[in-house]
Amino acid sequence: MDRIYLDHAGTTPVTEHVLESMLPYFRQCFGNASSIHGTGRDARKAVEGARRQVQAALGADSAGEIYFTSGGTESDNWAIKGSAFALKDRGRHIITSRVEHHAVLNTCAWLEKQGFEVTYLPVDEEGRVDPEDVRAAIRPDTILISVMMANNEIGTLEPTQEIAGIAKSRGICMHTDAVQAVGAIPVNVNDLQVDMLSLSAHKFGGPKGMGALYVRQGTRLDRLMHGGEQERHMRAGTENLPGIVGLGTAISDAVSKMPEHARRMRSLRDRLWQGMVRLIPGLILNGPEKDRLPGNLNVSIQDVQGESVLLRLDLEGIAASSGSACTAGSLDPSHVLLAIGRDTETAHASLRFSLGAENTEEEIDEVLRVLPGIVTDLKKLRFG
Ligand SMILES: *Cc1c(COP(=O)(O)O)cnc(C)c1O
Repeated sequence: MDRIYLDHAGTTPVTEHVLESMLPYFRQCFGNASSIHGTGRDARKAVEGARRQVQAALGADSAGEIYFTSGGTESDNWAIKGSAFALKDRGRHIITSRVEHHAVLNTCAWLEKQGFEVTYLPVDEEGRVDPEDVRAAIRPDTILISVMMANNEIGTLEPTQEIAGIAKSRGICMHTDAVQAVGAIPVNVNDLQVDMLSLSAHKFGGPKGMGALYVRQGTRLDRLMHGGEQERHMRAGTENLPGIVGLGTAISDAVSKMPEHARRMRSLRDRLWQGMVRLIPGLILNGPEKDRLPGNLNVSIQDVQGESVLLRLDLEGIAASSGSACTAGSLDPSHVLLAIGRDTETAHASLRFSLGAENTEEEIDEVLRVLPGIVTDLKKLRFG
């Protein structure tokens, strides 16, 4: 059997259609979008076409609110540092949550060293931020609220719209990391009422190293990258032309296929979960039962180490993850699992399966065929 890839929250393969759309922009149409000759103008046309695709996918008012970046990490860094520095004369207090991606958490930690103050809101046992906690944390000097749309580890969907409504009523800038949400659930910047939104192409069938930041017209934001005048003077550096074209194709495709895709992912995910419940004792579901990302299953298996299960699955050609890919290799228990109240042992016992477009029922059944034996083996090794 071919390898089975169940780590789409880590990254996804570029789709055939996305790859085809990118290829002409390496050699035939390779121009620098800032050049005024024909080759440059062709490149410019492609960049602006992709920008309109992102605008349409997010329901933004104008294409001018979309800025291309090198990925989710840059978008998060830019949104948070850029607004912190633009607004520092108004205040130096930022509100975020304990379950954010490290691109947000480590950016906030750095800002604390620069004299900003950050409140890290707790979450409930399913990973959800309580909007009332946001309201209570707001101070006269609060300048930014950043809460993710969907959690990359446990799939929790955050009440982004409600939190953004609170931010808006108090005149505070609202950013959301929607990297896991785009292509998985509806994402519309005007329904959500957010001022800034981060996304990353490689999480929905686009190329790695390519992302975008939505910035609502009128939002105060300093530059992160200094240099040339690209992206309307806001993000210097020659445009990644094939990457931008690939992002445009990927987001259009992902958003138009989203309802059907989500249905399929939910059905595969439920097949996996129900099969595991039937075959493996001592399972603890991490994250909500309902209201979670359609393709996400995060589960702790009592008395086994997630890492050990992963290695054994890998030997069988099955790729999953424990904790998040970014912290894999470190043995620190996941900050997200600790935030929902799991003890260290249960956190270490976690496995994440994240499904994608190319997965099939046969693949899920293959996982269900090998996983129970692996778990039994590991328990024997441990308890003799
Ligand atoms: C993957 C991910 C990121 C980082 O995006 P990159 O494009 O890999 O830098 C940020 N936030 C979340 C929620 C993610 O899942």
